[in-house]
Amino acid sequence: RIVYVNGEFVPFEAATVSIMDRGFLFADGIYEVSAVLGGRLVDNEAHLARLDRSLGEIGIRNPHPTNEWVRLQTELVRRNELAEGLVYMQVTRGTYERDFAFPPAETPPTVVMFTQAKTVARNPVAERGAKVITVPDIRWKRRDIKSVALLAQVLAKQEAAKAGVSEAWMVEDGFVTEGSSSTAFIITGGKVVTRPLSTALLPGITRLAVMRLAEEAGLTIEERLFSVEEAFAAEEAFFTSASAFVMPVVEIDSCSLGDGAPGPLTKRLRALYLEMAGA
Ligand code: PLP
Repeated sequence: RIVYVNGEFVPFEAATVSIMDRGFLFADGIYEVSAVLGGRLVDNEAHLARLDRSLGEIGIRNPHPTNEWVRLQTELVRRNELAEGLVYMQVTRGTYERDFAFPPAETPPTVVMFTQAKTVARNPVAERGAKVITVPDIRWKRRDIKSVALLAQVLAKQEAAKAGVSEAWMVEDGFVTEGSSSTAFIITGGKVVTRPLSTALLPGITRLAVMRLAEEAGLTIEERLFSVEEAFAAEEAFFTSASAFVMPVVEIDSCSLGDGAPGPLTKRLRALYLEMAGA
């Protein structure tokens, strides 16, 4: 397995980052994840645009122009002979003697990339549908930034794991914000409902692609808040992410949706997304 660290492709075992790295000490960094299908990156330019935006929001210089990122990603995929899975990218504010304030401007950011082989298209969970639980959203107020500070999501996902389900939907003031690593959708009255973008949630790249596909398919999309109660009563539900694509949800907090199987509109959207991704 070959990974990328600060300008070099090295064997995984040889890859190291300093204990003074600000990603390690302060979670002072940004990450991004693109899916790989058939050896090709899925919707990658949008992920790289969000990476650039996240870095800008916290004042880390983007170390590479888009074409260089693509070159590095493609090289990593090639060296690992990755047909299906994920490319993970992380940029931190670099390594410097520990101090909360930023290090000198010339401090180079730390750049790390690795691949993970994973079945993203033919995922058996998507066939039977995923179960989710709801948990309180205890995160900070800039969730639009894809920060590596993921402790709230780690705890949420662990709750889900303990409950034997796939995902935790986070709830604030009675309304679903998003999944711990995905965007939440419900279908109610035949309409596709998802929360509008704000600082309360991450602008999902898959979310946007699925909304476009839904619109092209003639479905009505409502960007509005939805409550946990509304989700319990929904006809269908699903979540989206670069790694799950469109994942049908069949149960929320032990409350079964519809007939307990992935819903027809959700299945259609998953098929449209897979087609778009070149599956
Ligand atoms: N929301 C959160 C909190 C996430 O961590 C993720 C992905 O990791 C998403 C939404 C989905 O975003 P995307 O579709 O860009 O992968």
